[in-house]
Amino acid sequence: MKALAKLKSERGLWLTDVAKPEVGHNDLLIQIRKTAICGTDIHIYNWDEWAQKTIPVPMHVGHEYVGVVAGMGSEVKGFEIGDRVSGEGHITCGYCRNCRAGRRHLCRNTVGVGVNREGAFAEYLVIPAFNAFKLPPDISDDLASIFDPFGNAVHTALSFNLVGEDVLITGAGPIGIMAVAIARHVGARHVVVTDVNEYRLDLARKMGASRAVNVAKEDLREVMGQLHMCEGFDVGLEMSGNPQAFRQMLETMNHGGKIALLGIPPANTAIDWNQVIFKGLEIKGIYGREMFETWYKMVALIQSGLDITPIITHHYKIDDFQQGFDAMLSGQSGKVILDWA
Ligand code: NAD
Ligand code: ZN
Repeated sequence: MKALAKLKSERGLWLTDVAKPEVGHNDLLIQIRKTAICGTDIHIYNWDEWAQKTIPVPMHVGHEYVGVVAGMGSEVKGFEIGDRVSGEGHITCGYCRNCRAGRRHLCRNTVGVGVNREGAFAEYLVIPAFNAFKLPPDISDDLASIFDPFGNAVHTALSFNLVGEDVLITGAGPIGIMAVAIARHVGARHVVVTDVNEYRLDLARKMGASRAVNVAKEDLREVMGQLHMCEGFDVGLEMSGNPQAFRQMLETMNHGGKIALLGIPPANTAIDWNQVIFKGLEIKGIYGREMFETWYKMVALIQSGLDITPIITHHYKIDDFQQGFDAMLSGQSGKVILDWA
């Protein structure tokens, strides 16, 4: 079958032919229809330090997808051939304390689809049936293919009650922009998002931001004044991984503020801990999505009118994958979708 793989320990990805994966007793075979490019795939493409020590070579990658069930192991229940599915890319062990207590997202033995094992950038993907999520008919293939990052946004944004709150989102990457739309949909008061990329700030405005602030040119405090927010933000969603953005968030939070951290900062990032202590801030780290609470919430949010479709800015056929990666690398994109069928 056709697959998009890391074939050499250098920058790039290559279309290649690999064996169709074998289906175990508890597995589903999924015929892939659409995939989306994640920031993680860009790290893998660029072959940065993290990718070099994490990704086996050769291996095909990718973990954002939608497809249809094309086969299943003898023990699988609850799925039929032809079911439309996406899936949770974190394969959990099932036996650690958190898994056994139903907190799968906190499994200490997580294996990542398309990171630690073969991925979804292929004609077929095999995952444990437990990880598959059956999609209702009113969720389009395009939207279903970005449920993984949408789930990051939902998990982070719904960590704290946003109703009537002033929310700061640092980083208007695809996940930050989706978080803007979610915060707006669930009833936040002001939703302020920061970035240094005008293309993305524009997208964030389209998705409902009260203000999308270019922190390279504008003073966030001035914007807060214009919105009559004299005390500070109630909730912060850190979605840039940029230390400067996190520091700015800490400085502009109100006392008692709550922060969810999704963005992955460089090792040994220093912050002013006094901001945390004397303001009595609550900080929560976010990894992945809650299994499968976040998935149900994603469907419910869309069915109740949340529109995240503007985040999908580019579509390419898989044979033109290079153009898709170039669009992502340019920074002038939201989500980029690659069609397989
Ligand atoms: P992205 O890299 O596309 O977006 C990050 C954005 O932050 C960019 O638009 C960038 O211009 C912006 N930025 C840079 N400097 C800034 C500053 N000083 N102030 C404000 N914004 C600034 O990433 P994404 O795909 O949207 O993901 C968001 C973050 O979440 C990344 O750090 C990613 O690694 C991380 N992530 C974490 C998890 C998890 O499970 N914890 C899952 C997915 C992604
Ligand atoms: Zn576990």
